Amino acid sequence: MRCLVVGAGFSGAVIARELAEANVHVTLIEKRDHIAGNAYDEVNQETGIRYHKYGPHIFHTNNEKVFVWLSKFTDWINYEHKVKAILDSGETVVIPPNLETIERLGKENVLDILYRPYTKKMWDKSIEELDPSILNRVPFRDDYNELYFPKDKYQMMPKEGYTAIIANILSHPNISVELNTKFEKTMEDKFDHVFNSMPIDEYYNYKFGKLPYRSIKFHHSVVPVPKFQELPTMNFTHDGVYTRVTEWKNYPNHGANRYKTLVTFEEPCDYSENNFERYYPVKDVSGENRKRYEIYKNLENDKVTFIGRCGQYVYIDMHQAISSALKVASDFRRRFGA
Ligand SMILES: Cc1cc2nc3c(=O)[nH]c(=O)nc-3n(C[C@H](O)[C@H](O)[C@H](O)COP(=O)(O)OP(=O)(O)OC[C@H]3O[C@@H](n4cnc5c(N)ncnc54)[C@H](O)[C@@H]3O)c2cc1C
Repeated sequence: MRCLVVGAGFSGAVIARELAEANVHVTLIEKRDHIAGNAYDEVNQETGIRYHKYGPHIFHTNNEKVFVWLSKFTDWINYEHKVKAILDSGETVVIPPNLETIERLGKENVLDILYRPYTKKMWDKSIEELDPSILNRVPFRDDYNELYFPKDKYQMMPKEGYTAIIANILSHPNISVELNTKFEKTMEDKFDHVFNSMPIDEYYNYKFGKLPYRSIKFHHSVVPVPKFQELPTMNFTHDGVYTRVTEWKNYPNHGANRYKTLVTFEEPCDYSENNFERYYPVKDVSGENRKRYEIYKNLENDKVTFIGRCGQYVYIDMHQAISSALKVASDFRRRFGA
C-alpha cells in the first residue's frame, strides 16, 4: 500500500511514522524547505542560540499515551512555563492572573488591562466578537501559583529541539520526504490514500469562500546585551503593534552567549498580509467560519483524510495534533488491515 502525506508538521509526521511501521510506503511532501511545520526550530548562526522560527512552542500535556509515544523520539528537559505581562509602568504581573495579579490590578480592571488591548491586536476583534472559548483558555486563578500550565502533568522541552524530534519520527526506511514540494491534485492518482494537512478551502479552490486565519509576523533580532528580560516570553499590555517578546536563551538548552541575546517580537496580522501563513483559525461568536468549514468537510471523499490545524480548521496544541494523528492512523490501519 502507498500513501501520500501532505505536510511535515506533527500531524503529518506522526501519521507517516505509524503507517510506515505497518509496512505502508509513505511519501511525505512539504512545501517549505524544512520539516517540523510551525514547530520548526534552528540555531541562529550569529549567536549560537536556538530559536523557534514560528513562535515559542512549549510541550505540555496530561495525555500519557502521547507523552510515551513522543518520548521514543527525544530526551527531555524539565521546564515549567511562566509568563508575565509588562504594564505601562514597566512593572510586571503574572499571567494568567493569579491572586497576586488580581490584588495588584483590582479584579474589575484585569480584563481591560490584560486582555482587551491584547485581544484586539491578536484577533483584530473585540472580546465580545470572539467565541468565549478563546478567553476561557486563560482562566483566573484563586491561588498564588505562577505556572502557565498548572494542571499539566508533563511539561518539558525536547532536549535537542522540535526539528530533531520530527527528523527522528521521519527516519524510517518506508518514509521518503520531499521538501519544496507543493501538493497538486494529480499526485493523488499514484497513491491508495492521501492524508492532507493543507488548508481545506485551498484544496477545494475556495469554492465556498475563504476560511479566515490570523497570522503573526515574527521579528527576530540580535541585541548586544547579555540579558534582555526576566522570563523567556513576556506579553505587552499596551495598544502598540506587538503582543509578545521572547528571549530565546531563557529557555533551557537553547544555547548561551555572554555578549548577545536573540529576541523575537510578535506582530499579529491577517494571513493575507503575511504571505498567506495561516496560524490561528478565527473562532467567531456566530460560528459562521466553522459552518463554512463543515461544508468543505462534507466534500471529503474516501481517498482523502484532512488532518491537522489547517485540514481540520481548528487550533490544536502539539499534544492534541499528535493524539489526533495517532487516532487517524489507527483507524486507517483497522479499516484497511494495514
Ligand atoms: C505562534 C504559535 C505558537 C504555538 N505555540 C504552541 C505551544 O506553545 N505549545 C503547543 O503545544 N503548540 C503550540 N502551537 C501549535 C503547534 O504549532 C501545532 O499544534 C502544530 O504545528 C500542529 O501541527 P500540524 O501538523 O497540524 O500543522 P503545521 O505545523 O502547520 O504543519 C502543516 C505543514 O503542512 C505544510 N503544507 C501546507 N500546505 C501544503 C501544501 N499545499 N503542500 C505541501 N505542504 C503543505 C505546511 O508548510 C506545514 O509545514 C503554536 C502555534 C503557533 C502558530
